[in-house]
Amino acid sequence: MRCEKCGSAATVEIVFATSGGLVAVPKVQRKKLIPKYSYMTGQACTDCGAVFNIRLNEPEKFKPFVDYAAQVRGGGN
Ligand SMILES: [Zn+2]
Repeated sequence: MRCEKCGSAATVEIVFATSGGLVAVPKVQRKKLIPKYSYMTGQACTDCGAVFNIRLNEPEKFKPFVDYAAQVRGGGN
């Protein structure tokens, strides 16, 4: 995958990790479900250092937390 900042092809796939792995958690845990999280991966450019294409490994886990009503009103937060 080419770097979206400088166009270099010298990119590597990365994971976001602390000692136990850095995870994304929905800010609002709606519907009192069991807390969900997803590990994330991304792409890093070895030429300019850009980090891009950050993705949730399991985006479907967050589906129950989407507030569709807030989006109709014009956005959450
Ligand atoms: Zn780059």
